[in-house]
Amino acid sequence: FPVTPVQPLSRKMYVCDSRFHTEHLRDQLEVKDQFGLMVVDRESAAYALLRGNHMTFLRNLHSFVPGKHGKGGQSQRRIQRGTEILAKDHLRRAGEMASKLFLEIPDLKGIVVGGPSLAKDNFVRGDFIDFRLRDKIMGTVDTGYTGEQGIRELMEKSTEILKDVRYLEEKKLVQIFLSELGKDTGLVVYGQKEVMKAMELGAVKTLLISEELDVIQTKVACPQCNYEKQEAVKAREFVEFEDEIIKRNCPECGSSKLSIEDTQDFVVELGKRSNETGL
Ligand SMILES: [Zn+2]
Repeated sequence: FPVTPVQPLSRKMYVCDSRFHTEHLRDQLEVKDQFGLMVVDRESAAYALLRGNHMTFLRNLHSFVPGKHGKGGQSQRRIQRGTEILAKDHLRRAGEMASKLFLEIPDLKGIVVGGPSLAKDNFVRGDFIDFRLRDKIMGTVDTGYTGEQGIRELMEKSTEILKDVRYLEEKKLVQIFLSELGKDTGLVVYGQKEVMKAMELGAVKTLLISEELDVIQTKVACPQCNYEKQEAVKAREFVEFEDEIIKRNCPECGSSKLSIEDTQDFVVELGKRSNETGL
Protein backbone atom coordinates (compact mmCIF):
# COMPACT_ATOMS: atom_id res chain seq x y z
CA PHE A 1 0.00 0.00 0.00
CA PRO A 2 1.21 3.54 -0.61
CA VAL A 3 2.20 5.48 2.47
CA THR A 4 2.17 9.26 2.32
CA PRO A 5 4.95 10.63 4.44
CA VAL A 6 3.85 12.87 7.30
CA GLN A 7 6.50 15.32 6.14
CA PRO A 8 8.97 15.42 3.26
CA LEU A 9 11.61 12.76 3.67
CA SER A 10 15.05 14.14 4.36
CA ARG A 11 16.87 11.19 2.90
CA LYS A 12 16.47 9.52 -0.42
CA MET A 13 16.70 5.81 -0.24
CA TYR A 14 16.05 3.50 -3.10
CA VAL A 15 16.54 -0.11 -2.28
CA CYS A 16 15.14 -2.71 -4.57
CA ASP A 17 13.97 -5.67 -2.62
CA SER A 18 10.83 -7.27 -1.36
CA ARG A 19 9.71 -4.42 0.79
CA PHE A 20 9.72 -0.65 1.15
CA HIS A 21 12.01 0.70 3.79
CA THR A 22 9.87 2.43 6.32
CA GLU A 23 12.48 3.32 8.93
CA HIS A 24 12.32 7.00 8.06
CA LEU A 25 8.56 7.03 8.13
CA ARG A 26 8.79 5.42 11.49
CA ASP A 27 11.07 8.20 12.74
CA GLN A 28 8.45 10.69 11.71
CA LEU A 29 5.57 8.89 13.31
CA GLU A 30 7.42 8.75 16.58
CA VAL A 31 8.41 12.39 16.66
CA LYS A 32 6.30 15.13 15.21
CA ASP A 33 7.48 17.80 17.62
CA GLN A 34 9.11 20.85 16.20
CA PHE A 35 12.10 22.58 17.68
CA GLY A 36 13.73 25.84 16.79
CA LEU A 37 17.48 25.90 16.33
CA MET A 38 19.42 29.11 16.39
CA VAL A 39 23.11 29.90 16.22
CA VAL A 40 24.23 33.40 17.05
CA ASP A 41 27.64 35.07 17.14
CA ARG A 42 28.70 38.69 17.25
CA GLU A 43 27.79 39.51 13.68
CA SER A 44 25.67 36.71 12.30
CA ALA A 45 22.73 34.53 13.19
CA ALA A 46 21.24 31.42 11.58
CA TYR A 47 17.88 29.76 12.11
CA ALA A 48 16.44 26.34 11.42
CA LEU A 49 13.53 24.14 12.30
CA LEU A 50 13.95 20.59 13.47
CA ARG A 51 11.17 18.04 13.14
CA GLY A 52 12.14 14.48 13.94
CA ASN A 53 15.38 14.06 12.07
CA HIS A 54 14.34 16.48 9.38
CA MET A 55 16.02 19.87 9.53
CA THR A 56 14.80 22.82 7.53
CA PHE A 57 17.18 25.72 7.26
CA LEU A 58 15.28 28.98 7.57
CA ARG A 59 17.48 32.04 7.42
CA ASN A 60 20.90 33.57 7.64
CA LEU A 61 21.29 37.02 9.14
CA HIS A 62 24.36 39.22 8.78
CA SER A 63 25.20 42.51 10.44
CA PHE A 64 28.26 44.62 10.00
CA VAL A 65 30.17 44.74 13.28
CA PRO A 66 33.83 45.82 12.95
CA GLY A 67 36.52 43.78 14.68
CA LYS A 68 37.92 44.72 18.05
CA HIS A 69 41.49 45.32 16.94
CA GLY A 70 43.10 48.69 16.39
CA LYS A 71 45.41 51.30 17.86
CA GLY A 72 44.96 52.52 21.40
CA GLY A 73 44.09 56.00 22.52
CA GLN A 74 41.19 58.36 22.62
CA SER A 75 39.70 57.62 19.19
CA GLN A 76 40.06 53.87 19.81
CA ARG A 77 37.76 54.17 22.82
CA ARG A 78 35.23 56.00 20.73
CA ILE A 79 35.40 53.33 18.07
CA GLN A 80 35.09 50.69 20.75
CA ARG A 81 31.91 52.27 22.01
CA GLY A 82 30.55 52.43 18.48
CA THR A 83 31.37 48.77 18.01
CA GLU A 84 29.57 47.84 21.21
CA ILE A 85 26.48 49.66 20.03
CA LEU A 86 26.62 47.85 16.69
CA ALA A 87 27.11 44.52 18.44
CA LYS A 88 24.10 45.16 20.65
CA ASP A 89 22.14 46.24 17.61
CA HIS A 90 23.00 42.95 15.97
CA LEU A 91 21.75 40.90 18.92
CA ARG A 92 18.54 42.91 18.93
CA ARG A 93 18.06 42.19 15.22
CA ALA A 94 18.84 38.53 15.84
CA GLY A 95 16.13 38.45 18.52
CA GLU A 96 13.60 40.13 16.24
CA MET A 97 14.31 37.63 13.50
CA ALA A 98 13.82 34.80 16.00
CA SER A 99 10.39 36.22 16.85
CA LYS A 100 9.49 36.59 13.21
CA LEU A 101 10.47 33.00 12.38
CA PHE A 102 9.59 31.07 15.52
CA LEU A 103 6.50 32.80 16.93
CA GLU A 104 4.40 31.89 13.92
CA ILE A 105 5.09 28.19 14.32
CA PRO A 106 2.23 26.61 16.24
CA ASP A 107 3.21 24.21 19.03
CA LEU A 108 6.90 24.93 18.84
CA LYS A 109 8.20 22.62 21.55
CA GLY A 110 11.37 24.47 22.36
CA ILE A 111 14.42 26.32 21.17
CA VAL A 112 18.09 25.48 21.48
CA VAL A 113 20.55 28.34 21.11
CA GLY A 114 24.10 27.71 19.97
CA GLY A 115 27.12 29.78 19.15
CA PRO A 116 30.54 30.79 20.47
CA SER A 117 30.16 31.14 24.23
CA LEU A 118 30.30 34.93 24.70
CA ALA A 119 27.92 36.14 21.98
CA LYS A 120 25.44 33.36 22.65
CA ASP A 121 25.40 34.00 26.41
CA ASN A 122 25.04 37.74 25.89
CA PHE A 123 22.13 37.04 23.61
CA VAL A 124 20.34 34.70 26.01
CA ARG A 125 21.01 36.77 29.14
CA GLY A 126 20.30 40.12 27.55
CA ASP A 127 16.92 41.57 26.79
CA PHE A 128 16.91 40.54 23.15
CA ILE A 129 14.36 37.75 23.04
CA ASP A 130 10.59 38.03 23.08
CA PHE A 131 9.28 36.74 26.42
CA ARG A 132 7.12 34.14 24.66
CA LEU A 133 10.24 32.64 23.12
CA ARG A 134 12.33 33.04 26.26
CA ASP A 135 10.19 30.43 28.03
CA LYS A 136 10.87 27.99 25.23
CA ILE A 137 14.66 28.04 25.43
CA MET A 138 15.58 24.57 26.61
CA GLY A 139 19.28 25.03 26.68
CA THR A 140 22.36 26.55 25.12
CA VAL A 141 25.23 24.77 23.43
CA ASP A 142 28.72 25.99 22.56
CA THR A 143 29.40 25.61 18.88
CA GLY A 144 32.59 26.32 16.98
CA TYR A 145 30.84 27.14 13.73
CA THR A 146 28.20 29.65 12.79
CA GLY A 147 25.77 29.85 9.89
CA GLU A 148 24.40 26.69 8.34
CA GLN A 149 27.40 24.69 9.47
CA GLY A 150 26.81 25.95 13.00
CA ILE A 151 23.21 24.79 12.77
CA ARG A 152 24.37 21.28 11.82
CA GLU A 153 26.82 21.26 14.69
CA LEU A 154 24.08 22.43 17.05
CA MET A 155 21.72 19.74 15.79
CA GLU A 156 24.26 17.04 16.61
CA LYS A 157 25.10 18.47 19.98
CA SER A 158 21.48 18.99 21.11
CA THR A 159 20.49 15.34 20.89
CA GLU A 160 20.69 14.89 24.65
CA ILE A 161 18.66 18.03 25.39
CA LEU A 162 15.95 16.98 22.94
CA LYS A 163 15.89 13.44 24.29
CA ASP A 164 15.19 14.74 27.79
CA VAL A 165 12.29 16.80 26.50
CA ARG A 166 10.83 13.79 24.72
CA TYR A 167 11.28 11.61 27.76
CA LEU A 168 9.43 14.07 30.01
CA GLU A 169 6.68 14.44 27.45
CA GLU A 170 6.29 10.68 27.21
CA LYS A 171 6.18 10.36 30.96
CA LYS A 172 3.46 13.01 31.13
CA LEU A 173 1.36 11.23 28.49
CA VAL A 174 1.64 7.91 30.29
CA GLN A 175 0.64 9.57 33.56
CA ILE A 176 -2.45 11.08 31.92
CA PHE A 177 -3.30 7.67 30.47
CA LEU A 178 -2.96 5.94 33.84
CA SER A 179 -4.96 8.57 35.66
CA GLU A 180 -7.82 8.40 33.12
CA LEU A 181 -7.70 4.65 33.41
CA GLY A 182 -7.76 4.78 37.21
CA LYS A 183 -10.72 7.16 37.29
CA ASP A 184 -12.52 4.97 34.78
CA THR A 185 -13.58 7.98 32.70
CA GLY A 186 -14.05 5.94 29.57
CA LEU A 187 -11.69 8.25 27.75
CA VAL A 188 -9.00 5.64 27.23
CA VAL A 189 -8.92 2.41 25.30
CA TYR A 190 -6.13 -0.10 24.98
CA GLY A 191 -5.49 -3.26 23.06
CA GLN A 192 -4.79 -3.56 19.36
CA LYS A 193 -8.39 -4.18 18.26
CA GLU A 194 -9.95 -1.54 20.50
CA VAL A 195 -7.44 1.11 19.44
CA MET A 196 -7.92 0.36 15.74
CA LYS A 197 -11.67 0.65 16.17
CA ALA A 198 -11.42 3.94 18.01
CA MET A 199 -9.19 5.25 15.24
CA GLU A 200 -11.67 4.25 12.59
CA LEU A 201 -14.27 6.25 14.46
CA GLY A 202 -11.93 9.21 14.53
CA ALA A 203 -12.15 9.21 18.31
CA VAL A 204 -8.44 9.20 19.09
CA LYS A 205 -6.65 12.31 20.26
CA THR A 206 -3.43 10.78 21.51
CA LEU A 207 -1.99 7.46 20.48
CA LEU A 208 0.65 5.79 22.62
CA ILE A 209 2.60 2.92 21.12
CA SER A 210 4.69 0.71 23.35
CA GLU A 211 8.18 -0.16 22.21
CA GLU A 212 7.25 -3.79 22.75
CA LEU A 213 4.69 -3.42 19.99
CA ASP A 214 7.22 -2.09 17.59
CA VAL A 215 7.62 -5.42 15.89
CA ILE A 216 7.42 -6.35 12.24
CA GLN A 217 5.85 -9.68 11.33
CA THR A 218 7.66 -11.22 8.41
CA LYS A 219 7.20 -14.23 6.20
CA VAL A 220 10.47 -15.79 5.12
CA ALA A 221 10.13 -18.07 2.13
CA CYS A 222 12.23 -20.09 -0.27
CA PRO A 223 11.41 -19.85 -4.00
CA GLN A 224 13.09 -23.20 -4.71
CA CYS A 225 11.02 -25.34 -2.38
CA ASN A 226 7.93 -24.81 -0.27
CA TYR A 227 9.74 -23.69 2.85
CA GLU A 228 7.97 -20.89 4.68
CA LYS A 229 8.37 -19.45 8.14
CA GLN A 230 6.83 -16.58 10.12
CA GLU A 231 9.36 -14.53 12.02
CA ALA A 232 8.84 -11.48 14.19
CA VAL A 233 11.58 -8.88 14.19
CA LYS A 234 12.05 -5.77 16.26
CA ALA A 235 11.62 -2.82 13.93
CA ARG A 236 14.96 -1.29 14.82
CA GLU A 237 16.69 -4.56 13.97
CA PHE A 238 14.95 -5.04 10.66
CA VAL A 239 17.81 -3.92 8.44
CA GLU A 240 20.17 -6.38 10.15
CA PHE A 241 17.53 -9.06 9.74
CA GLU A 242 17.34 -8.41 6.01
CA ASP A 243 21.11 -8.77 5.73
CA GLU A 244 20.99 -11.97 7.69
CA ILE A 245 18.29 -13.46 5.46
CA ILE A 246 20.43 -12.76 2.38
CA LYS A 247 23.27 -14.74 3.94
CA ARG A 248 21.08 -17.49 5.35
CA ASN A 249 20.45 -20.65 3.34
CA CYS A 250 17.14 -22.46 3.09
CA PRO A 251 17.02 -25.08 5.88
CA GLU A 252 15.05 -27.43 3.59
CA CYS A 253 16.86 -27.40 0.26
CA GLY A 254 19.98 -25.35 1.02
CA SER A 255 19.17 -22.73 -1.60
CA SER A 256 20.72 -19.27 -1.06
CA LYS A 257 17.64 -17.54 -2.49
CA LEU A 258 15.80 -17.28 0.81
CA SER A 259 13.84 -14.03 0.94
CA ILE A 260 11.35 -11.99 2.92
CA GLU A 261 8.05 -12.39 1.10
CA ASP A 262 5.75 -10.38 3.22
CA THR A 263 5.89 -7.96 6.12
CA GLN A 264 3.24 -6.61 8.39
CA ASP A 265 4.06 -3.54 10.31
CA PHE A 266 1.55 -2.57 12.95
CA VAL A 267 3.11 0.82 13.61
CA VAL A 268 3.09 1.81 9.95
CA GLU A 269 -0.48 0.60 9.70
CA LEU A 270 -1.44 2.77 12.66
CA GLY A 271 0.42 5.70 11.15
CA LYS A 272 -1.47 5.30 7.92
CA ARG A 273 -4.78 5.30 9.72
CA SER A 274 -3.83 8.26 11.84
CA ASN A 275 -3.17 10.20 8.63
CA GLU A 276 -6.49 9.13 7.18
CA THR A 277 -8.46 10.14 10.23
CA GLY A 278 -6.45 13.30 10.71
CA LEU A 279 -5.15 12.41 14.15
ZN1 LIG B 1 14.29 -24.21 -0.08
